Amino acid sequence: MGVILLGAPGAGKGTQAAALAGRVGAVHISTGDIFRTHVSRGTDLGRTAQRYLDAGQYVPDDVTNAMVREQIRDDAFVLDGFPRTVRQVAYLDELLDGLGLSPVRVVVLTVPPQELITRLVRRAHDSGRSDDIEEIIRERQAVYRAETTPLLGIYRERGLLREVDGAGRPDEVARRIDAALAAISVTALRPDASAA
Ligand code: AMP
Repeated sequence: MGVILLGAPGAGKGTQAAALAGRVGAVHISTGDIFRTHVSRGTDLGRTAQRYLDAGQYVPDDVTNAMVREQIRDDAFVLDGFPRTVRQVAYLDELLDGLGLSPVRVVVLTVPPQELITRLVRRAHDSGRSDDIEEIIRERQAVYRAETTPLLGIYRERGLLREVDGAGRPDEVARRIDAALAAISVTALRPDASAA
């Protein structure tokens, strides 16, 4: 069962993706975590990615897509932070198709904009993340709105997307995610239906 968790920075994707992956026995693929690991190891990819991360900008699609290709082997995955652009959606479609895997189910976590900023500013105190400073936090929200919100329409049209209220305790949000995934109809997961 391939799942994508979508949501603005601060919506709780990382926490919920890790927990969901644990519940269903899938791998949690966080592109942000993979980039940060490369940055801390000082790899070539890390050096390329760092300036984008520090600026709150997206790493170029070709770099990100190639990295994701290394991660997906079967459809037991929860994607956290990918896809984030329309081009990444097209790439993921081709990748899954090429591997003979079924379309993904998509859950988007919704949290009011001011709550997102509050959460991230709070997280900034202990995360040590170089992009958790207020100016960059606002830039990341703007990039999300411009680049990633169009993905909601794409997956909604395919019948593969459910919105989940991301407010409240993590265990409550987790229950909503499970219910949303169960509600995404099995017929919508047939390749011919997804193309319609
Ligand atoms: P995250 O941990 O998901 O908030 O991601 C942190 C940063 O990693 C983002 O602000 C981007 O710079 C980069 N990043 C993560 N995922 C992607 C992606 N799918 N496409 C481009 N950049 C990404």
